[in-house]
Amino acid sequence: MHRIARKPWQTGMVTSNTPPAQGTRLDPWFGAYAQRAHNMRASEVRALFAVASRPEVVSLAGGMPNLADLPLDDIAELTAKVIATEGMTALQYGSGQGRPLLREKIVDVMRLEAIDAHPDDIVVTTGSQQALDLVTRIFIDPGDVIIAEAPSYVGALSVFRSYEAEVEHVHMDAAGLVPSELEESIVRLKEQGKRVKFLYTIPNFHNPAGVTLSLERRHQVVDICKRHGVVVIEDNPYGLLGFDGEPLPAMRSFEEEGVVYLGSFSKTFAPGYRVGWVVAPHAVREKLVLAQESAILCPSHASQMAIEAYLSNHDWKRQIEEFRSMYKSRRDAMIAALSEFLPDATWNVPEGGFYVWVKLPPGLDSKTMLPRAVTGRVAYTPGTAFFYDGTGADHLRLSFCYPDEATIREGVRRLAAVISAERES
Ligand code: PMP
Repeated sequence: MHRIARKPWQTGMVTSNTPPAQGTRLDPWFGAYAQRAHNMRASEVRALFAVASRPEVVSLAGGMPNLADLPLDDIAELTAKVIATEGMTALQYGSGQGRPLLREKIVDVMRLEAIDAHPDDIVVTTGSQQALDLVTRIFIDPGDVIIAEAPSYVGALSVFRSYEAEVEHVHMDAAGLVPSELEESIVRLKEQGKRVKFLYTIPNFHNPAGVTLSLERRHQVVDICKRHGVVVIEDNPYGLLGFDGEPLPAMRSFEEEGVVYLGSFSKTFAPGYRVGWVVAPHAVREKLVLAQESAILCPSHASQMAIEAYLSNHDWKRQIEEFRSMYKSRRDAMIAALSEFLPDATWNVPEGGFYVWVKLPPGLDSKTMLPRAVTGRVAYTPGTAFFYDGTGADHLRLSFCYPDEATIREGVRRLAAVISAERES
């Protein structure tokens, strides 16, 4: 005998005050979700991946690093050796804080940005994306305010949304986040009775804005946040990918108590191992380790040991040099193509990283234009992805990290054709 399946709200599992909302009857569990699940949505970047990965589309949308120059044979050998000689450890559970040897190596990496940390200051995470989740988890109650640049990293905004934070955007100019606006915002929000918990900032080669916070402003930002009791979350996955000159000192290099620093191997080595880290003052670190243990018990031992082997046996600094010069010539190709094909738009010239932030000619909307761009065989990320309230349609982000120079030029040429059709319609 067949029984008719009952929907959860017919079985009493879901209370009557949480009826399925309009348009959700296809999901029988809709009424059961926590509010934070309702706040989660597919990012515009993710929705794009499906279309942008079609071979006929030039994708200037995603932020995937170009791994073509990595010495895969060497890496395969190193990794195989880790399993062959230390497999019982590599495949075992480990410390929630991460392996001591890897933390020692991370100290060396951070020295390049003037950070003088101790291995004990570090918590290894599953990419810096997980670090963002842990940091938000330990600091944010629903309704708490996070200050972030306008625009800001789409993946951070999605974490903030899932923890029901409010986000206050602060403007940037060519020298990065504007300190006077930061202070005004903190003061105003506090007067309104809001709890301002942290500033989330990407000081180097910003995603998506491409700008870098000047040294003078780094000091001002830290000083303002200290005076107002606001933690600085310094998210720095691109800091070693500057095209000219030496990296600027990280804020963590001159402020230990007030800064929580996030690092990653995703852009300077490879994202596939999913290894990042946090540097935090003692008490914060203890909370992060507890949060980490409850989320994942420990970061992947095998990944950590593969990265240890890479850093110990490979000239990783030279590899970063190679990445820098490869991305620099891609940046140059993109800027040249923009000048050639899109003279009516405006953009900044990033001094490192992966992204150019383009302001469209007046009257255009990057979000509504996107389907037509994909039809025109080019993809980008609409500016709306990078603002908490979905504004920013007058901008778009172009990534120059993954396609080669000729493909970048063709992508910008196609984009210009889409824009000119848009203006004529
Ligand atoms: N922060 C920023 C600013 C990023 O651009 C990214 C990746 N695009 C991340 C964090 C997350 O990187 P991962 O988890 O790979 O370390």
